[in-house]
Amino acid sequence: MKLVSFGEYGSRAGIVCRDGTITDITDLLPAGSGCRSQVMRGVIESFSELRGRLAEFEMSGGGQSFGSVTLSAPVLEPSKIVAAPVNYLDHMEEMHQLSHIDSLGVFLKAPSSLIGHGGTVHLPYNNRRFDQEGELCFVVGKPARNVKVEEADDYIFGYSVLLDITMRGGEDRSTRKSFDTFTPMGPWIVTADEIRSVDDLELRCWVNGVLRQDAKISELIWGVPELLAYVSSVMTLYPGDVISTGTPKGVGPIGDGDEIVAEVSQVGRLSVSVTSIGATFSVTRGGTTGPTQPSDEEFG
Ligand code: MN
Repeated sequence: MKLVSFGEYGSRAGIVCRDGTITDITDLLPAGSGCRSQVMRGVIESFSELRGRLAEFEMSGGGQSFGSVTLSAPVLEPSKIVAAPVNYLDHMEEMHQLSHIDSLGVFLKAPSSLIGHGGTVHLPYNNRRFDQEGELCFVVGKPARNVKVEEADDYIFGYSVLLDITMRGGEDRSTRKSFDTFTPMGPWIVTADEIRSVDDLELRCWVNGVLRQDAKISELIWGVPELLAYVSSVMTLYPGDVISTGTPKGVGPIGDGDEIVAEVSQVGRLSVSVTSIGATFSVTRGGTTGPTQPSDEEFG
């Protein structure tokens, strides 16, 4: 099943039907199950009870046309977005790094940085470099603490596509990656039962139609189960929490007017535009410090 959040403030949950339309499922939730930003979390928590009804909606269709709704990130206010810093060897090389996830661990992105499919990334500064990072992410289905790798699948609700928009430089990752709009996610969550083998998935990312990233998910240094097991050994995960698996080689600069498309096979295709309207001079001075990114030249 494919589940979306849409409408004003993303306060409605929907299912993508077989005929491509979206049926509103918000009213299936038990009354009083959380505030408007927690609707998808309510769906995740009640999924085993809702499943039969949802399958009927999925088959019958006749909902709102896909293009007529404004999508939000599928999960609105997860308790956290956890992300992998360097989880592909070819990205470690292009960033001239000597270490990867097994010595770096993970980092947090602000949940307030989420936007949905069709949204706009706002670049805050006009004197700094910003890059796209296409990633596969997954959504946690139930509280998870000290989960074993072999049991990790039981805790995964579904998968989505995420862009980890990044300011290059020496500031802490949590600053460089947490500006408002810096975490596009979507268009939907595909429930885990629809993905037979995560290792078979392929990730691609284009900027203005030019392919920049092309990788197999099997190339992850820490795969999805290892990542969930590790993160749950650090912090308790809650339903709706988002874990992003990291980006492969091919990160590069983005600017005003760009169109970014990230796609994971069997999961979905996420597209957003970029604007620098309102950008100012960077408050911090990390532009010349931090990891050495791939040169600007190859992107013209
Ligand atoms: Mn990333």
